[in-house]
Amino acid sequence: MTTNQALFDRACLTIPGGVNSPVRAFKSVGGAPRFIAKAEGPYIWDAEGKRYIDYLGSWGPAIVGHAHPEVVEAVQEAAALGLSYGAPTKAEILLAEKITQLLPSIEKVRLVSSGTEATMSAIRLARGATNRNKIIKFEGCYHGHSDSLLVKAGSGLLTFGNPSSAGVPEEFVQHTLVLEYNNLDSVRAAFEAHPKDIACIIVEPYAGNMNLIKAKSGFLEGLRELCDEYGALLIFDEVMTGFRAGPKGIQGLTGIKPDLTTLGKVIGGGMPVGAFGGRADIMEHIAPLGTVYQAGTLSGNPISVAAGLKTLEIISRDGFYENLSNQLEKMISGIEDEALRAGIDFSADFVGGMFGIYFRDTVPTNFVETSESDIQAFNTFFHSMLDNGVHLAPSAFEAGFISAAHSDEVIEETISAARLSFQKL
Ligand SMILES: *Cc1c(COP(=O)(O)O)cnc(C)c1O
Repeated sequence: MTTNQALFDRACLTIPGGVNSPVRAFKSVGGAPRFIAKAEGPYIWDAEGKRYIDYLGSWGPAIVGHAHPEVVEAVQEAAALGLSYGAPTKAEILLAEKITQLLPSIEKVRLVSSGTEATMSAIRLARGATNRNKIIKFEGCYHGHSDSLLVKAGSGLLTFGNPSSAGVPEEFVQHTLVLEYNNLDSVRAAFEAHPKDIACIIVEPYAGNMNLIKAKSGFLEGLRELCDEYGALLIFDEVMTGFRAGPKGIQGLTGIKPDLTTLGKVIGGGMPVGAFGGRADIMEHIAPLGTVYQAGTLSGNPISVAAGLKTLEIISRDGFYENLSNQLEKMISGIEDEALRAGIDFSADFVGGMFGIYFRDTVPTNFVETSESDIQAFNTFFHSMLDNGVHLAPSAFEAGFISAAHSDEVIEETISAARLSFQKL
């Protein structure tokens, strides 16, 4: 049998760092990543044949459980009809109709192949539609890896950001302001400093890329008001939260209506998909109607669309989200009890089917606070959970994801593993 370590060593010979997306490499937790051989329902199996309860969920898409028979069947049927045409299909209309029906702020929507493409295109559209260059993003929010969004906060509160990656020229990010999440005063100050230059704010309405961090009450409302006051567009990046945090995303939970929304992850049901959409008058600036260029050879790919449509159909069934968040609540409160019993500094939070566990005594509200978690404690906990058959995201700064296939038995097994793992601390 080939071990995970042997596969990792071999992968490193031909793939940079052995992986095709950096966090998979276990760099922050140490050890060899598990090479996955198959997945079903709440479980994944690695190349050594070991089974894990999965809370990675492909980083969010696997909301109905892995290899859901209806999704697999939809994909197989679509595949038999050809993999890609480069010409429009009826199924794309159905998916667009479904998305616009579920998220009323979206009047028109365009499909792309990843969340990165969705946010990159939405930013270009916002700039093109407003004729302005500057954008606001928040520290700790991730919007994919396009150049103008790979930015970290500068030293002063109102300075422009610095590239967070080599290979991104400073000139490319000179229009990106990086502000503190949940800090409305900084946003107000930015608009006062640049009243006619800010095209848009892009925000994860609840952040899921610095662990789970919810917007404080009033934050999203304030962003909406400031955008309206200064003629800027509000973009909700719901690539993670869309159909994950609830049936209508965070916009449905909070009642705040963005001008544009970006989607990905769940809407592809595990296949590569992204989407951006919003007000029709803004979306009509995109080619072929308007002057903002955007395109994609595989956009609206029939297999991806089939997987996405079936997934959206399943999550629209009665009781889907009630069940999902009931299960998650049981799991989170069970884990919290075990942490308390073990005397660990620990807190947790969740919304819909996503959760955060934090090795600190209060739930964080921004990037600085989430950075103050006990990383060593998380890493020890992570490896012990893995040994006990539970696969969490391999970083203290990532959210976790449950699926509809996580039964009571699976939740109990998870809590038992947590009990053993807290004892290790
Ligand atoms: C995952 C994610 C992205 C990037 O999506 P990819 O499909 O990985 O390119 C963008 N924004 C948010 C909020 C995400 O969680």
